[in-house]
Amino acid sequence: SAYENEIKQAVRTIENWPDEGVMFRDIMPLLQDAHIFRKLIDSFVHRYQKETVDAVAAIDARGFILGAPLAYELGVPLVPVRKKGKLPYETVSQSYKLEYGEAEIELHTDALKAGDNVVVMDDLIATGGTMLAACELIKKLDANVLEVAAIIDLPDLKGSERLRDAGFNIYSICQFD
Ligand code: 5GP
Repeated sequence: SAYENEIKQAVRTIENWPDEGVMFRDIMPLLQDAHIFRKLIDSFVHRYQKETVDAVAAIDARGFILGAPLAYELGVPLVPVRKKGKLPYETVSQSYKLEYGEAEIELHTDALKAGDNVVVMDDLIATGGTMLAACELIKKLDANVLEVAAIIDLPDLKGSERLRDAGFNIYSICQFD
């Protein structure tokens, strides 16, 4: 659609960052343009406003930027999924593989109630490792992942396929080869 194309056009590609050979998809221009930022958030709001959503889980750190206005508009709790060591209360944690090494993300044990329907928000799906780990955390609290949502999917990296195979629904606004 027109707005999806407008959003895709506004993504900036930085070659060889953070590493040689990487094409980094930079979403900062989407935030710099108030009109595009509104369209971006509205597209997520539109998708979920008629659904039964009990919480928005937003992934550290770019997911926070998108998850916060979505939770606000839907009138539901915002649940930050944070990198290890940032949350002060009792947590559940999940480690996952990165290209080089491992990472770990955490959720407060009281962040969700059993049976809550949760939208999981991040800016981009690459290998899907981050989203899958976040979904595992949500399941550890006996909550339900309604859908994982991102601005961008990189289908060649098979993350969305991996998530679909694991039984999760996915929504992305645009895709890059
Ligand atoms: P994955 O775990 O799916 O391999 O990587 C996705 C995570 O890494 C997301 O949290 C996302 O913010 C970050 N990421 C990886 N590559 C890019 C990129 O090209 N652009 C942006 N904006 N984020 C990326």
